[in-house]
Amino acid sequence: MSDPRTLVGLGVSPGIAIGKPIVVENRPLPVTLVQLARNQVEPEVGRLRAAAARAAAHLAELARDAARTVGSEYGAIFEAHRLMLEDPSLLDEVERLVRTEAVNAEWALEQVTHRLVAQFDQLGDLYLRERREDLLDVALELQRSLQGRAAPAIEFSGGMGILIADDIPPSQALRLATRAVGGFASETGGLTSHTTIIAKSLGIPAVVGVAGLIREVERAALVIVDGFEGHILVDPDPALIQVYSLRAEEHRRRQQELLGLAHLAAETSDGQAVRLLANIDLIPEIAAAKAAGAEGIGLFRSEFLFLQASPDLPTEDQQTAAYAELLAAFPAGPVTVRTFDLGGRKLAREVLGNPENNPVLGLRGVRLCLQKPEFFRTQLRALLRAAAQYPDALRIMVPLIGHVEEVKTVRVLLARYREELRREGRQVPERVLLGAMIEVPAAALIAEHLAREVDFFAIGTNDLTQYTLAVDRGNEQVAGLFRPFHPAVLRLVERVISVGARSGVPVSLCGEMAADPLAVPILVGLGLKEFSMHPPALPLARSLIRALSHREARRMAQKALALATAKEIEEYLLEQLSGLLSHLKVRILP
Ligand code: PEP
Ligand code: MG
Repeated sequence: MSDPRTLVGLGVSPGIAIGKPIVVENRPLPVTLVQLARNQVEPEVGRLRAAAARAAAHLAELARDAARTVGSEYGAIFEAHRLMLEDPSLLDEVERLVRTEAVNAEWALEQVTHRLVAQFDQLGDLYLRERREDLLDVALELQRSLQGRAAPAIEFSGGMGILIADDIPPSQALRLATRAVGGFASETGGLTSHTTIIAKSLGIPAVVGVAGLIREVERAALVIVDGFEGHILVDPDPALIQVYSLRAEEHRRRQQELLGLAHLAAETSDGQAVRLLANIDLIPEIAAAKAAGAEGIGLFRSEFLFLQASPDLPTEDQQTAAYAELLAAFPAGPVTVRTFDLGGRKLAREVLGNPENNPVLGLRGVRLCLQKPEFFRTQLRALLRAAAQYPDALRIMVPLIGHVEEVKTVRVLLARYREELRREGRQVPERVLLGAMIEVPAAALIAEHLAREVDFFAIGTNDLTQYTLAVDRGNEQVAGLFRPFHPAVLRLVERVISVGARSGVPVSLCGEMAADPLAVPILVGLGLKEFSMHPPALPLARSLIRALSHREARRMAQKALALATAKEIEEYLLEQLSGLLSHLKVRILP
């Protein structure tokens, strides 16, 4: 076996994928100005038209394939982009500039795009501002086509492809929903960045934060993504492919085996029952949640409805239908819908016209919703309408709470829209459950006060870790400092669980920590009764809980909480759990 080139990154979604690399560059390409001679202008216009035709054909193909494999609403996104490409405000303008200024098409396209984007930025209207992002996507597609670098079609129907990207913004994470993407690697990203979370939800092996990835893989015929070790193997020889194929097969078999246990109760050996719920981003994931034995939905990231409705905003009717579908799947509940968590890094560009200097500390989550009452109203009305038939099943959960007033305001709005709907003659529930996500240290520290205002807490450890440790969760440069086992984070988690227990407010945890085999025992030991995680992680969590004793877990939690560093805590847990984890065939990365 000869040594292949091995690139090292962060393994964020377990599993092995072997396949042909599909390289997608999302960063803008550099464009230079070329002044044309008069006789070069017409051929340049011809080149522009030909590139536009190629880009349109590519978008049409994407639309057809996406509609066939993942649903018409996805196909419609690419179809809308194709139509924008034909819109005279873009293409005719570029052509006019090529003619009047005698410049190359790439340069003209960049100027026109800048101008149109600036016009969009002036608009206060959320709907129109969303079009700005579509325009940028379409312009990028055309720019690629002009430069002879048309984005390779992600083979929706062909063999396994490995998506290799410099960066994948959440708006493109949708591409991962196609069955043909077998694995994923990117230059940027971290343990809990949004694309990572989607890869995990879909059970797609993924490695992020791989420096120089595109340069190394550009000409490769085959790559292996090792999501366990965080390795990308470039052009491995047949013997190595064989070894990894066997590992991939073993992992699949193990997952199947665990899925076979989905009907067993999630209960410790000494009888402590735990509720296992699913985190889902897209409605089609309901099936995977059910198959994995989820008892309900602990986190529905509703902001993803923006992707599905794009280029339009999700309407009240569309949202009501989506929430009703979730409720129909789990009529006894809980179905926890997190209100739009837009802004920060998540779909920020789609919603905010003006870039913020520090978006993660800016207008995101509940702050954005309260400042944009027009679309928050649509969402709350849709939730109330969907809850009419399932009043006890729905839980409305509000992200990024830092102030008691924010929860109170949401309650006032809910009461107002309930009245509004009633006056319109619609059926609405008397009361719906309202909860706060605890993902800002301030919220954990005022949990006693929040407990008087809400029906439940949901701890979001992805953001709680980010904000407690001042570490950007999506930045690969500081990924090593992103430590959910840091004693400060664990103390805040402990605090919220115990305030919840004292005040009779149920507490769930829906950050990635809920699925970490090292964290499950201490969370059980701290008294957490509700875990919510991406569906593929549920079977292992169930097996782990069944193999634990609550008494032992409590002891471990107490010991862990007395230690001084994340490293000490991780090492202690590894040592305590090594027997159990090897029995369950769980591999923990260093
Ligand atoms: C979290 O912050 O832990 C969480 C569950 O929400 P998200 O990952 O969507 O920010
Ligand atoms: Mg969060």
